[in-house]
Amino acid sequence: MDVADTVGCSVMQDSDEDYIPQFVDSDIDLQDDDDLFAKNVDCDKGKDKVKLNFKSFREEDLAKPEFKVGQTFASVELLRRAIKEYSCHERVDIKCPRNDRKRVKGICEDGCPWSLYASFDGRINCFMIKKYNPNHTCIKKWSVKSFTAPFMAGKYLDSFRADENMNMKNFSRVVQKDWNMTTTRSKLRRARRLVKKVIEGDELEQYNSMWDYAAEFKRSNPGSSFYVGVNDDIFGSCYFSLDACKRGFMQACRPVICLDGCHLKTKYGGVMLCAVGMDPNDCIYPLAFAVVEVENTDTWKWFLSNLKSDLGILNTEPWTIMLDKQKELIKGVRQHFPDAEHRHCVRHIWQNFQQTHKGDVLNNQLWKCARSTTPELWAASMEEMKVISIEA
Ligand SMILES: [Zn+2]
Repeated sequence: MDVADTVGCSVMQDSDEDYIPQFVDSDIDLQDDDDLFAKNVDCDKGKDKVKLNFKSFREEDLAKPEFKVGQTFASVELLRRAIKEYSCHERVDIKCPRNDRKRVKGICEDGCPWSLYASFDGRINCFMIKKYNPNHTCIKKWSVKSFTAPFMAGKYLDSFRADENMNMKNFSRVVQKDWNMTTTRSKLRRARRLVKKVIEGDELEQYNSMWDYAAEFKRSNPGSSFYVGVNDDIFGSCYFSLDACKRGFMQACRPVICLDGCHLKTKYGGVMLCAVGMDPNDCIYPLAFAVVEVENTDTWKWFLSNLKSDLGILNTEPWTIMLDKQKELIKGVRQHFPDAEHRHCVRHIWQNFQQTHKGDVLNNQLWKCARSTTPELWAASMEEMKVISIEA
């Protein structure tokens, strides 16, 4: 006998294994369930203490609920959830004609003998199944009432966390495979909306724990920077960079900083600004990140001034800053890195270039120009480009 499964432990002869559940017709209302109680209780008269031996239903059992007489539930809510899960797993429609804080009675459809009766027991202070008939004569359903949108939302939260943009077709396929049930499109859509709400709620939670994150960030990486900007007690912006990254960059990397911003596709939006360097293996080396509400001259200036003081840059002459063709960013760079060389990212030039000049020949010529390392080579490549297309 699994002692951990029982409420308290007892030394009675009736162990759980050879306990025979009573099958009682639901029509007969047992007024007195003392027999059931007496069977499971061992009264220790010497100490005037009652020891109980009822199998308790745990949260883990919800994965595939099985009922039996004498089973106990910590709360009526747990019992209701168990009935709901049972209904969906077994694909049967269970109705609860009596459902309050004292008693719960569940029946299957007309003509099916399945029934369950549980009530609150003051002696053990929890809900207990008093009568149960596990037999069904009904046919399994393709859709049951308990299989609601909130129920599905609870089941597929993790799937949506992994793939937020899972489309309706895949979602319905997964539901059908897992549960063998057909659901309507509108129900699936409602479930997806509920899931998104939960996930977005988590985002709010994450923004709320920003202060804790900042404190931990500084504790575990001394010397790192973490600034949070607040507008009227609401999160406005934040900037952070790790000490180890800064030191590594200053010691081993070329004085090249690449800057770019990207939109955050979460509920709260915003823009992420980032600065990266190039390590000796020509790989991207992270430097600093910031989250701001909008990408404009002021936010870029703020980001760059933080970055400059973080890296301890006084003389900007040896530096090369690579950026896209954004005016706001260029203004910011001019102010904080006045002597640095500005470079435009070829990918961004190419993006604009492609809109007016299509075709692979021009495309390859553009990259050839970009890769020219001396002014003479560049001029020659540009001449070639002019031969192909004069406007380019
Ligand atoms: Zn049934």
